[in-house]
Amino acid sequence: MHELGIAQEIVDIIAEHAGSARVTRVVLEIGRNALILPDSIRFCFDLCSEGSAAEGAALEIVDVPARARCRDCGAELVLDQPFGLCNCGSADLQWLSGDEIRVKEMEIV
Ligand SMILES: [Zn+2]
Repeated sequence: MHELGIAQEIVDIIAEHAGSARVTRVVLEIGRNALILPDSIRFCFDLCSEGSAAEGAALEIVDVPARARCRDCGAELVLDQPFGLCNCGSADLQWLSGDEIRVKEMEIV
């Protein structure tokens, strides 16, 4: 399960920023192309955050659509899945974003 490794990285990043403070809320941005299941990342986050500054923090997940540029006509597209067609009919897409996983916000006390 690759969500477990990702959750561990997220917890490490949070712990680093939080120092000795306690984290109450975390907003996570997950791109559509990252192919992460929100339920799975929640479960893993709870496991990994046990005993860390992030233990018990509420995890909010923001779904980020994938963006791509068509190599044929140069149009920019927003896609809900990691494949697609440009309006011009081309499938030759350059991905600009969509596979990112990042901590957007965190609240500490
Ligand atoms: Zn196109």
